[in-house]
Amino acid sequence: MTIEPRRIPACPDCSRPLEVLKSCGASSYFCNHCNELKGSARVREANPSLFSDAASGAGDPAGLNDSKEQH
Ligand SMILES: [Zn+2]
Repeated sequence: MTIEPRRIPACPDCSRPLEVLKSCGASSYFCNHCNELKGSARVREANPSLFSDAASGAGDPAGLNDSKEQH
């Protein structure tokens, strides 16, 4: 197996590398440039490739099935 290099997420506001603060299972993101904490939801949106599941290939949304009725 290959060792994945640690990727650093970028700030959604200034695109600078964020500092990842891990505390008790939760991750917080702090931007030294904005000097404030960034919500994980926004960090995810700004860095989709970093937070996609470890599935192989590109992370394309495959959950667009509209017909899932049960009768
Ligand atoms: Zn920033």
